[in-house]
Amino acid sequence: MYAPLLEQRGKQAAHVIKQLGHRRMAGSYCATVQEAKEEVLRLIPDGATVLRCGSETVVGLGLWDAIAAKPGASILNPYTPGLTPAEALDIRRRGFSADVLLTSSNALTLDGRLVNLDGACSRVAPMLFGPSKVVLVVGMNKVVGDLEAAYARVRTVAAPANNARLAGPLGLKNPCIEDGRCHNCRSETRICNAWVVIEGSTVKDRIHVVLVGEDLGY
Ligand code: SF4
Repeated sequence: MYAPLLEQRGKQAAHVIKQLGHRRMAGSYCATVQEAKEEVLRLIPDGATVLRCGSETVVGLGLWDAIAAKPGASILNPYTPGLTPAEALDIRRRGFSADVLLTSSNALTLDGRLVNLDGACSRVAPMLFGPSKVVLVVGMNKVVGDLEAAYARVRTVAAPANNARLAGPLGLKNPCIEDGRCHNCRSETRICNAWVVIEGSTVKDRIHVVLVGEDLGY
């Protein structure tokens, strides 16, 4: 990471954290992925039940093994190999009573709004309601100027990239898989069904955003 870019990201993060606070959400900044990993582990209490949702950011940090090693921790993981679709759905439903949801956000605006696009909504639904605490790990590469930029980022980067990742495992047949561009399709296997913009939180600090100076996820 170039030093001037890291310096700029630190200053920008301080502004975003202030904006999150105005929206009754919390934030912290970690310059490196190692610091981010330590911060997430600090935010998850011993003995917590943690719901896992789709996030390449969290997987990239190697956090799941570290959480599993915490005393008394239990992970609700719908991606456990060998589960039937019904069993995975049951885990997702039970996840609404988890102590912590750990995932990322597709985009975050400079004024503190979290923007996500989901397919079955098993990721955005518990962000909105259920788990007592929501921890979102967000690389500064996902911070954008405003809502329009957030929508553009998700449609041009996050959604086509997620299609590329899931095409094989889920058998997706969407046009973005062919050319890497969103066509706002009406495909039966479309994974872009619900935009969710989180403007604030009724429960103060239920949502905690861990901003990371290094690029993470997509
Ligand atoms: S082409 Fe369809 S599935 Fe692909 S990113 Fe656009 S809306 Fe989503």
